[in-house]
Amino acid sequence: MSIQIADLANEFGLKPGHVVTVLDDLEIAHDHSSFEVADEDLELIREALREVPRDAPLRVRGPLTPREAAALLGVQAGEVQKTLVSKLRTMATLTTQLKPEVAEKLFELFGSRLEWKEASEPKPAAPKPRPAPKQPAVQKRPPVVTIMGHVDHGKTSLLDKIRKSNVVDTEHGGITQHIGAYQVELPEGKITFIDTPGHEAFTAMRARGAMVTDIAVLVVAADDSVMPQTREAISHAKNAKVPIIVAINKIDLPGVNPDRILTDLTQEGLVPEAFGGDTIVCKVSAHTGEGIANLLEMILLQAEMLQLTADPKGPLEAYVVEARRDKGRGPVATVLVKNGTLRKGQSLLIGTAYGRIRNMLDYRGRPIDEAGPSVPAEVMGLNEVPDAGQKVEVFEREADAREEAERRIEASKSPTHAGRGLTLKGLREKLNQGELKELNLIVRADVQGTVEAVCGQLERIKNDEVQVRIIHRGVGNVTRSDVDLADTATAICVGFNVSAESDARNQAKQRGVEIRTYRIIYELKEDIEKAIQGMLEPKFEEQRLGAVEIRMVFDLSRYGKVAGCYVTEGKVVRGCQVRVRRGSEVVYEGRVASLRHLKDDVREMTAGFECGIQFDGWTGFQEGDVIEAFERVQV
Ligand code: GDP
Repeated sequence: MSIQIADLANEFGLKPGHVVTVLDDLEIAHDHSSFEVADEDLELIREALREVPRDAPLRVRGPLTPREAAALLGVQAGEVQKTLVSKLRTMATLTTQLKPEVAEKLFELFGSRLEWKEASEPKPAAPKPRPAPKQPAVQKRPPVVTIMGHVDHGKTSLLDKIRKSNVVDTEHGGITQHIGAYQVELPEGKITFIDTPGHEAFTAMRARGAMVTDIAVLVVAADDSVMPQTREAISHAKNAKVPIIVAINKIDLPGVNPDRILTDLTQEGLVPEAFGGDTIVCKVSAHTGEGIANLLEMILLQAEMLQLTADPKGPLEAYVVEARRDKGRGPVATVLVKNGTLRKGQSLLIGTAYGRIRNMLDYRGRPIDEAGPSVPAEVMGLNEVPDAGQKVEVFEREADAREEAERRIEASKSPTHAGRGLTLKGLREKLNQGELKELNLIVRADVQGTVEAVCGQLERIKNDEVQVRIIHRGVGNVTRSDVDLADTATAICVGFNVSAESDARNQAKQRGVEIRTYRIIYELKEDIEKAIQGMLEPKFEEQRLGAVEIRMVFDLSRYGKVAGCYVTEGKVVRGCQVRVRRGSEVVYEGRVASLRHLKDDVREMTAGFECGIQFDGWTGFQEGDVIEAFERVQV
């Protein structure tokens, strides 16, 4: 791996020159700023550095250039040049070799002592750092974590505590703003936290197709236990196939028994490791900070297992995690990159918002030029505030982004713009297309006993094609979050003895999600059964268009056999359905393949006109046959 000499020096409170001294002693190649080393060798270097006193001389091979001297001293090269000119009356470019006595004085002026190593020996050819291994396109990326759980179990407190103990505030000393996500840096790796806790935001984002969360931390208060929103969070995370780490919080409270919660979790299908399962459970206190380091370690461990990777040079995949209008800065969106790199100056399109990235800040409010995978960035320069969860797209030119935004606005006005939700009626179609094997339901009822009873009944319904699967159940009205979940999971919301909250109804309408409410269990069951058996299949009705008589049969060399007809009633339309009778017998059922009047192809012919008709795959017609024209319409 590649190691920055300055970073390593910082770790031990030493000057970079001390590290170089050790590297030279160990004969490890470097270029005064970084070096390549294997893991086990790094430990050796660390051992050696532990022994170095802070005031030890810097023993290096000469001669040195100002650039090398600056690197050894851990200062800016400009500062070295300034000191050379002002204090030592020496003009030198960054790459001029300094006289030994000048270099020694220079080091003194920066509070260090310089000793020449093997001064008698000429400096060996500049140690060639091993060429840095070509960076693989796909690299490891930090995990993105969402904290979920029941209200008051301490989600916000936990997020705040993690942030306060692990994120250095801005140099300006200001309170770091919450921008929707932040990143903690640990020696073992980085973690990105979405700092809007709860599964509502998680699911709302998912409903828009944004899967930014890699790991869910489920907070359960030690003085309480698994509660309705805990269950919801579990359903939502499981449905999204996001692994769950449990954090039992408030262990600082006197008299709590966190172990009791392990049993409750098991009942929810989260079997803790202590019980032989694979759910990681950490005991923490957001107040005292106890256990948080362990929680972070477990998150990194889980991330390691997930093998999260991204290609910073690849195509951009990024989502908005939060957006708002700022008084001074206009629309500001916090964007999280999943793949590729977001760069200042890029032209973006987010939903119907567009613009060029005028300015970009990191989660600490510091300006940045680019943001790679899992790095949250505040983006300024959009014309309007986008929605959380929307996808970020990059355009070559801002004008193209604007054009596409305008097209989208137009398209959204069109009446055909509909959601992609599932309805009981649409179920059959999806089954026929092989899109569905399971009917996902979200079940709500007035009391827990009823929830269980209703689910019990529904789960028993199945046929060869479809299995009913209840992806979430709960007490109370159908909520917006249920609708979001239904939307992402292609599910139907059913309520028993409850209704839907108004924002749930609005959301359902917008997204085309079906909410069905019932008061009689039998009706609910019957509807679901019918839907599965296809009895809710759309019905078609025949609508008569008209009648036509075949008066003559032509056999034209160019066209083949044509029926010379006279429309006696209504009309006949090209492509319409027909039934041909000979007496009372039906001799053909099919379609009109071609319709001509004189020499022209026509779309339809009305009563009182003559026309030539050919049928789809049938030429057995005779003079005197009667054609009934009709079409099938859905009722
Ligand atoms: P949220 O609704 O899940 O975001 O919960 P909050 O973070 O707002 O916390 C709810 C309440 O629990 C607040 O009064 C917190 O002070 C308290 N609380 C949170 N974490 C702890 C903890 O670790 N120990 C104790 N004793 N109280 C906590």
